[in-house]
Amino acid sequence: MAELLVIAGQREGELRPSSLEAIAAARGVKQAGDTLAVVLIAADPQALVGALSVEGVDEVIAIKASDDFQPDLTEAVITALVAARKPALIATAHGVDAWSFAPAAAVKLGCGLATDVQALRLEDGALVATRAGYAEKVLVDLDFPGKATVLLTIRTNVFEPAAGSGAPKVTAMAAPAADIATTHEGWKPPADAGGIDIPGSEFILSIGRGVGDESNVEQFLELAGGMGATLGCSRPIADNGWLPKARQVGQSGQLAANCKLYIAMGVSRSVQHQWGMKHVENIVAVNTDPEASIFSIARYGIVGDMFEIAEELQNHF
Ligand SMILES: Cc1cc2nc3c(=O)[nH]c(=O)nc-3n(C[C@H](O)[C@H](O)[C@H](O)COP(=O)(O)OP(=O)(O)OC[C@H]3O[C@@H](n4cnc5c(N)ncnc54)[C@H](O)[C@@H]3O)c2cc1C
Repeated sequence: MAELLVIAGQREGELRPSSLEAIAAARGVKQAGDTLAVVLIAADPQALVGALSVEGVDEVIAIKASDDFQPDLTEAVITALVAARKPALIATAHGVDAWSFAPAAAVKLGCGLATDVQALRLEDGALVATRAGYAEKVLVDLDFPGKATVLLTIRTNVFEPAAGSGAPKVTAMAAPAADIATTHEGWKPPADAGGIDIPGSEFILSIGRGVGDESNVEQFLELAGGMGATLGCSRPIADNGWLPKARQVGQSGQLAANCKLYIAMGVSRSVQHQWGMKHVENIVAVNTDPEASIFSIARYGIVGDMFEIAEELQNHF
């Protein structure tokens, strides 16, 4: 019998969808007799209980506090719950919120820790977490010998969000005293993506620095439109302001989560870019350099000039 905890997240009173993915990850290793409790810190936690009442959730621990995310408070909550309940697992979504409390809490409490976890399983009753290593070049299985509690941050867009209906009991918990060292200044919404949806697109045509100049970008917008693809880009293109940031694929951009066909033109394959697209089953690379490392992850490679290939394609659409 073990207790599994998930730290849910909210923004201005709305449940963050990644919370349901963290629940799914924890639920995947829940065994008969285990309990799964979701911790929610919000101004009106009761309002979000419905959204957390999914299959497998046995309890919602509701903590009334400001809706403004507070890492020190979250860390204090984890500390109190580890002392009171000795959970085997604490899972939370990988992201800016978790970065600010998860490693600190794990070090302070002597927990096992793995960040950006992509898969989770039990082996002989012990947790094994899979995450990438060496700049996403390998997958690493981590176990946590001797650790009573393991804290995991769960990569988003990997686990299917937990669904189904549940009827968790709701336990009110008083916010523990916390040494608050940070001040919440406010939320800045991301720039309007203008309908650009890299994560949702099944077909992406991406351009990189090989495009050379801003004046060349328009023809690829047209080509992508004609082909029924979403135009994506590498970071230098977005940084130059040649395309909006919402089109950037990669670690500090978007994950091409649903992409089935990814055509990369004039993109070299930095580790940061490949973070957003390496998983795509069908990658077609167009590059003038036969040694370009993008070819090592491409299913099809064309050594050639992206403008010539674009012209060829244009004739077909
Ligand atoms: C913290 C951090 C986060 C980052 N996040 C991201 C991110 O999210 N996404 C991202 O993309 N980058 C990211 N980067 C930047 C990344 O390191 C690379 O600098 C960037 O991905 C390179 O972009 P590129 O492939 O377009 O350019 P380059 O590496 O310059 O590659 C251009 C390629 O085009 C080819 N080429 C040139 N002319 C032609 C032509 N006419 N036809 C065909 N091919 C041609 C060249 O052979 C070359 O391979 C990040 C960097 C850091 C430090």
